[in-house]
Amino acid sequence: MNDISQNLNNATIMIIDDEPMTMAVVQAFLEDSGYSRFVQVEESSRGILAIEEKNPDILLLDLVMPGVSGFDILKQVREHPKYCHLPVIILTASSDSENKLRALDLGATDFLAKPVDQSELGLRVRNTLAAKAYADQLAYYDPLTKLPNKHMFSGHFEWALKKAKRHEDHLALLSISLDNLAMINATIGVGPADQVLQLVSDRLESIVREIDVMSRSTGDHKTTSSLFRVESTVFSILLDNMRGVEDAALVAERILQSVKKPIEVEGIEIYPTVSIGIASYPEEGKDCVTLERLATSAKDYTKKKGGNKFHFSSNAINESYAKRLRWESKLRRALEADEFVLYYQPKVDVKTGVIRGVEALIRWQSKAMGLVPPNDFIPLAEETGLIVPIGQWVIEEACNRLAAWNKQGRGPLVMAINLSVKQLEGPEIFSTIEKIIADTGVDPQFLKFEITESLLLDNIENKIALLKRLKKLGLSLSIDDFGTGYSSLSYLAKMPVDELKVDRSFIMDMLKDEENHAIVSSVIFLAKNLGLMTVAEGVETKEQLRYLQDQNCDQYQGFYFSRPIPEAELLELIPVK
Ligand code: C2E
Ligand code: MG
Ligand code: MG
Repeated sequence: MNDISQNLNNATIMIIDDEPMTMAVVQAFLEDSGYSRFVQVEESSRGILAIEEKNPDILLLDLVMPGVSGFDILKQVREHPKYCHLPVIILTASSDSENKLRALDLGATDFLAKPVDQSELGLRVRNTLAAKAYADQLAYYDPLTKLPNKHMFSGHFEWALKKAKRHEDHLALLSISLDNLAMINATIGVGPADQVLQLVSDRLESIVREIDVMSRSTGDHKTTSSLFRVESTVFSILLDNMRGVEDAALVAERILQSVKKPIEVEGIEIYPTVSIGIASYPEEGKDCVTLERLATSAKDYTKKKGGNKFHFSSNAINESYAKRLRWESKLRRALEADEFVLYYQPKVDVKTGVIRGVEALIRWQSKAMGLVPPNDFIPLAEETGLIVPIGQWVIEEACNRLAAWNKQGRGPLVMAINLSVKQLEGPEIFSTIEKIIADTGVDPQFLKFEITESLLLDNIENKIALLKRLKKLGLSLSIDDFGTGYSSLSYLAKMPVDELKVDRSFIMDMLKDEENHAIVSSVIFLAKNLGLMTVAEGVETKEQLRYLQDQNCDQYQGFYFSRPIPEAELLELIPVK
């Protein structure tokens, strides 16, 4: 078998017919000719959806079907931005020339009379596919790079945008142009310059492939990307189904890094660079024409500024991205320069007033900005993934301190450490904690991890499994800010946790009215029945403490007893026995 027929045999053949028997026969005949990819659609109303889903190379279409007829589907196909050129062979029992004329008028590619003759079917399908492959190559692909061209791009873009609108997804268009092609042409001539274009195109292609492989392996979010050569020196990348504009920025960074590696052509070393303009949907534009215009002008702007960079089309996004980058690098430097410190807030026995443990709360002791509270940088650390090394530092530091206090005879105290869901989801968390426990020699029964309720609820079954693995290390778990996330009771019972921390907002309003009374006392009641410890957060007054005593709450935390304090101050509260 030669290459062409091998390729043709890989074609996906879709058959839409209300008679399953006809489809079975057609498929069996074509299988004999070596085809193996078939999609049968019996329900004609699903026709166009099935085409969008399965992306066939050829459609065999029955004309007379109940509900949506073959004519209707043919018309929809020809009006479809992506599938308007799909070859359609009409299967018709009718020798009625009027119907044939109408189908031809609607753009039918060929006809086949029912009942189908095996050899005629095989020949018509093969010829149609071969003609399509050839026409596609000419009309839709760039001869140099073999990438899909501008025409393909337009159809694909319209279709992708429609899909993004339907599913409320984010999408980005990256317009990418080679910076120094004129100079390259002048130095090494046009022929060799084509080699440079080809290599740059290869590099872009491998990035696009990486993105697809990565998004398949992460599971949750399936960003897909496609690459086109839209003009001689301009490529476009479409990113579908992104989480947000940062994804586009990450891809642009990767492109800049990969493209600028030196290339040797005809003994001359060349450093190709590109200028990238990004337009994102829905943030910056809502239709194809606008998005294309915005991406192009952002690319031109980048080039004017010297190239080898990327810009979004809107200043607001450029600025917020730049701000984010600045913060990210500040945080990174803070970690290297050891600028984080832990403060500790006592967790106190409601009945006896004895300190049972402390919660470690991170602060950033910034040389430039002073003491920065966690709410100002933890969310950004979570977004950028920096929470993993920062969180690791917190666990190490907290365990080291706890071990030291115990050695000095100040215990026994439980150290509570806040754990971000991002940390919990990283595969290395278990070995990290295990190693820290081993290195510091702390007894894991004196370690407790607090996880915010609202963040636990997303993909809860998975989280329960992660929490169970954590518990195997011998430590205990607490649900932080309980009451803000609306956990369902059935899940609460299933979660392998030891403690509920009633959110500060309930404690704050607890004495204002009956309703808040009721919430706090029922949460405590519920927790007791599930065998969980209760801790009240944010206790600021004597009256609040008294009420918690009446309710048999186990522990409390709050400014009434102590604010979070540095270690030196804490040590005065937990003297050596
Ligand atoms: P959280 O874990 O719920 O911590 C309790 C917060 O309430 C602390 O704020 C504490 O200072 C504050 N607080 C305690 N008692 C009172 C009170 O009586 N009145 C008032 N108004 N506030 C009180 P902080 O230290 O600013 O921490 C805020 C949040 O930052 C924490 O909430 C936690 O979610 C996060 N966080 C802090 N340290 C870390 C850390 O090491 N890792 C992670 N992932 N998150 C952390
Ligand atoms: Mg906490
Ligand atoms: Mg809390």
